[in-house]
Amino acid sequence: MIRVDRLTVRYGAATALDGVSLSVAAGEMVALIGPNGAGKSTLVNTLCGLRKPAAGTFAVDGKLALVPEGRHLFAPLTVDDNLRLGAWRSGSRDTAHIYALLPELTKLRKRQAGKLSGGEQQMVALGRALMSRPDVLVIDEMSLGLAPRVVAGLAGHLRERNAADGLAVLLIEQNARLALDLCDKAYVLEAGRIVAEGPSAELAGSAEVAAAYLGLE
Ligand code: ATP
Repeated sequence: MIRVDRLTVRYGAATALDGVSLSVAAGEMVALIGPNGAGKSTLVNTLCGLRKPAAGTFAVDGKLALVPEGRHLFAPLTVDDNLRLGAWRSGSRDTAHIYALLPELTKLRKRQAGKLSGGEQQMVALGRALMSRPDVLVIDEMSLGLAPRVVAGLAGHLRERNAADGLAVLLIEQNARLALDLCDKAYVLEAGRIVAEGPSAELAGSAEVAAAYLGLE
């Protein structure tokens, strides 16, 4: 679904991504974890066509939708209108299937998006991305600032879409525990380079990854 091959992206003289390769296969859930400034947003922006690579290539198969960091809802509009905007390019503006997939949104449909809680807004952002019936979702910092119970609810919906529809996911997260729990495979990005990759369980078991990203328990 997504194939990134030796991608280098620069801001002037500064190299934000340095030969990054990664892939997300159909039906796969893949995590990209890494600290602040590692280059995660640069990768998202490049996949969305907002930045031009200095070297390397990337390809996306099928329909990609983004759940952006910070949600970027249209605050004065209702939840229903925000969902409809998710389909502005792709035809059907029928929101019924989103309320069936994310029933929590049903009672919020006439509410103004800007007045919802952070977790409710994140659910709207997910629903908006699902409106175009994507094959692959790129989700940038879904859990930021949200309570664990809310994050667990969102993660449950992603698992369900993956299991039921084969939705592929690239989950870009600072919350490494969530990312490794949810995804089959993970990459660790540090200072623009992939420094570790493999099955999530294997990475979670590695002493370096555990010390740097999972904290002491
Ligand atoms: P965060 O989680 O804090 O958003 P990130 O992993 O998404 O971090 P990026 O925002 O992609 O990291 O930044 C990667 C590197 O590129 C950093 O060193 C950052 O300072 C630099 N950078 C990002 N945007 C720009 C820009 N517009 N101009 C110059 N340098 C930039």
